[in-house]
Amino acid sequence: MKEDYYSILGVTKNASAAEIKKAYRKKAIQYHPDKNPDNPEAEEKFKKAAEAYEVLSDNNKKARYDQFGHAAFEGGGGGGFGGGGMNMDDIFSQFGDIFGSAFGGGGGGFSGFGGFGGGGQRRVKGSNLRIRVKLTLEEVANGVEKKVKVGRKKQASGVTYKTCSTCNGRGQVTKIQNTILGRMQTAAACGTCSGSGQMIDKKPSDADAQGLKTVEETVSINIPAGVESDMQLKVPGKGNEAPGNGVPGDLLVAIETIDHPTLKREGDNLHYDLYVSISEAVLGTSKEIDAVDGKVRIKLEPGIQSGKILRLRGKGVSSLNGYGSGDLLVHVNVWTPKELNKEQKDFFQRMQDNDNFEPKPEKSDKSFFEKVKDMFS
Ligand SMILES: [Zn+2]
Repeated sequence: MKEDYYSILGVTKNASAAEIKKAYRKKAIQYHPDKNPDNPEAEEKFKKAAEAYEVLSDNNKKARYDQFGHAAFEGGGGGGFGGGGMNMDDIFSQFGDIFGSAFGGGGGGFSGFGGFGGGGQRRVKGSNLRIRVKLTLEEVANGVEKKVKVGRKKQASGVTYKTCSTCNGRGQVTKIQNTILGRMQTAAACGTCSGSGQMIDKKPSDADAQGLKTVEETVSINIPAGVESDMQLKVPGKGNEAPGNGVPGDLLVAIETIDHPTLKREGDNLHYDLYVSISEAVLGTSKEIDAVDGKVRIKLEPGIQSGKILRLRGKGVSSLNGYGSGDLLVHVNVWTPKELNKEQKDFFQRMQDNDNFEPKPEKSDKSFFEKVKDMFS
């Protein structure tokens, strides 16, 4: 039977993130191997605490654990903790986060590069660029290709790189530090090359210290139909380039949609408010209304009721998942005149007791509530 993660850290199930972090710090210090040399029991407790923290500090994992217990991470072998828990390298790599700069090593120096994690050299990735793109409803409904100008950092022409002499291309340096836990060996990104393993050799005069130069470039972005405001698209490799043999970052595109003057969007459906006069409602008419692919003419039968919703199938927004489109729902509103001349007033007064003017809702004239129910079903 595996011990409960909360009791390993000595906190209750209601503990806040800060309390969990604090409890873990205490356990980590208490059972740290440097303080408990040749003590397998302490090492075991140290590892258990790290495993408990790994789960309870991650909202997703914590939620799964709260619901399913240890079973949430067993079976399937998908990176769970079922067998053997975490290794020491994983645990120490967490520490920068837990203890702050005392363990972080060269916490700075990553700025221009991004993407360098612990555990061996990786190809350094250039930083991401962010832009905002405004889209009309027409563009959202059908998808669009947008061409945008971005200032990208690219390797300047003529720049060359060589192996970093500080870390010999490893990208990391090992440091012995005196910490609250005693002397510890930590691996940190090399300060000379910021972890890239390479340093600049020949630098053209127009390049920055990393051999990069900002260049304006037109990037074309394929925006699928059905996107919504605040969604973010990624154009891989169109961010800033990295020095040396690094890979470029990504271009992150935040979507902003512009409201349409007459069409209101609700998911993939569109709504349009149509106003007709009493006489048009009585006699029937044909009206031109806005749709995302231009104007559409619709016919209203004589005797149409106010509140009637006409559904134009497939005239909404194309679905983001690629399956079909929403509908355009036309809400019919009969406009009642507020002022009448004598002749008109006489006419309506005469009609007051006329049988044809008596409301006689039919079964097919659904009530407002039934229509709302239909719309969302
Ligand atoms: Zn280096």
